[in-house]
Amino acid sequence: MSCQETRVLLHAFLDDELDPVRSLGVQGHLDGCRDCAREHAAHRSLRAALRDQALYFRSPQGLESRVRAALGSQGAIERRAGWLGAAGAFLRMRWAWLPAGAVAGLLAVTVIIIGRFGAPPPGPLADDLLGREVVASHVRSLMASHLTDVPSTDQHTVKPWFNGRLDFSPPVKDLAGEGFALVGGRLDYLAGRPVAALVYRRRLHVINLMIWPAPGEPDRSPTVALHQGYHVLHWTQGGMGYWAVSDLNENEMKEFVGLVQR
Ligand SMILES: [Zn+2]
Repeated sequence: MSCQETRVLLHAFLDDELDPVRSLGVQGHLDGCRDCAREHAAHRSLRAALRDQALYFRSPQGLESRVRAALGSQGAIERRAGWLGAAGAFLRMRWAWLPAGAVAGLLAVTVIIIGRFGAPPPGPLADDLLGREVVASHVRSLMASHLTDVPSTDQHTVKPWFNGRLDFSPPVKDLAGEGFALVGGRLDYLAGRPVAALVYRRRLHVINLMIWPAPGEPDRSPTVALHQGYHVLHWTQGGMGYWAVSDLNENEMKEFVGLVQR
């Protein structure tokens, strides 16, 4: 099994989702490849960190039944409509007669609903978690000496390289003339899917630009976040989601993103 196959299968391997043959293949490769073993260890520690109890909130026992009783059947219908329904019911109620207990209850129901559905709904929280995943991937790409699968400064080499490796064709721009030299491309695995990672250099700084489809999502202008000292800029454009990450300063990152967007 090659390094590339191993990287693609790593998440499924960690989740025990591979058949025995492929699982043995991945294990065999990890036993013999230090780079992939390091990547595997990094994934495992990231997963352990995400399981940190501090990230989860458990409601006290009996609260749910008390809330259900307080809300009555109307509340039950609203709850079935999910998060939005509960929020809507909350807004439609009249503050004047809303008992304090019911307010607390509705907030608790919201917490219970979030807890029950597990993954956060699309929005700032999901973006925040994904932003951390992007940073982890950026750090791994620098640590594991696996920055590029296709080292090339030529966009006409990098773009076709993704053909057949991804189910989409990422836009690839060389921005050497603007001071952001294309270094190459890499296959990465983020948000539970293979994605395109384009690698650029600005002086000694490496920029990873991760791209994957965001079907049906409207264009969104870049948001800036800071995780572990890395700037993460995220935007959607033309049905694609973009994540740019680097230790480069915010102004130059914005300049880079502006050039990619153009
Ligand atoms: Zn390997």
